[in-house]
Amino acid sequence: ATMPPLLSAIANAGRHGVLVKSAVVMERLGQVDAVALDKTGTLTEGTPRVSEVRPLEGSDLDEAGLLALAAAAEHPSEHPLARAVVDAARERHLPVPSAHHFTSTPGVGVKATVEGRTVEVGAPDRLLTGSTAKDAERMARIVAPYEERGHTAVLVQRDGIPVGVLAVADRLRPDAAATVAALGTLSGTSPLLLTGDNPRAAAHLASEAGIEADHVRAGLLPEDKVDAVRRLEADGRKVLVIGDGVNDAPALAAAHTGIAMGRAGSDLALETADAVIVRDELTTVPTVVALSRAARRLVI
Ligand code: ADP
Ligand code: MG
Repeated sequence: ATMPPLLSAIANAGRHGVLVKSAVVMERLGQVDAVALDKTGTLTEGTPRVSEVRPLEGSDLDEAGLLALAAAAEHPSEHPLARAVVDAARERHLPVPSAHHFTSTPGVGVKATVEGRTVEVGAPDRLLTGSTAKDAERMARIVAPYEERGHTAVLVQRDGIPVGVLAVADRLRPDAAATVAALGTLSGTSPLLLTGDNPRAAAHLASEAGIEADHVRAGLLPEDKVDAVRRLEADGRKVLVIGDGVNDAPALAAAHTGIAMGRAGSDLALETADAVIVRDELTTVPTVVALSRAARRLVI
């Protein structure tokens, strides 16, 4: 027997490196008329590297001590920034103490007990919510130069006191700009960038990827990504969300169709998404949207 068009489209998508979980999903892919992409791990390669280790004035830590402390707290995390920190410590052969009572907050960072002290590693403005305006301003001056270059600044606090800043640099995927352009053409609108990262790093990356400046939403918590998707859907749009992180899972679930990055994606994103990019290429997304449209023409 000849295969029904949607099933052969699923087989075809598989050959292009995309696992589409059902015929319903294969059909829905072709309906999308808006696209929202996550930044870290989706538009970027997701293998960021530590570019700077900076103990803060007044802290007793040197670079090695700061990096080892951050790596200890980040060790249990599966976030790409955490892997960058742990890898940097490993490359320098630093002894990394063990961590206890680990917790992580998507879009914020991690917290753990290291050598009897509370260590937090994460987004500077998110960790500094309780600090004075003067301290926040001082921190903003320290992190701005990194963020303007598109790097992500990560704050390290010990017992609630800032002890250092790490800068982490990620690269745009080589096929990001081509994919953004293709998805723009297929959906009829410029794709939206949804990120938990800071506005400066987001703007830098968006311009490299060809995303319009007014289509960038930065500093988002997981539920803010959901809100952004719901707002588009309230306008009658069928939104395709592409993401990789635990922080993207709610938006992947809320979207008309969700696609997760498979290679480095979190388990939760892979389970929540309707389709998974198995081969690590973003250009496969416009390909499967086109496959869906072709199959739908045969079905209808
Ligand atoms: P994105 O939406 O771009 O994938 P996330 O929502 O995962 O980004 O993270 C947003 C921000 O939260 C990061 O840029 C970082 O500042 C902070 N953050 C989240 N998890 C961690 C972590 N494990 N270590 C350090 N910082 C983190
Ligand atoms: Mg991500």
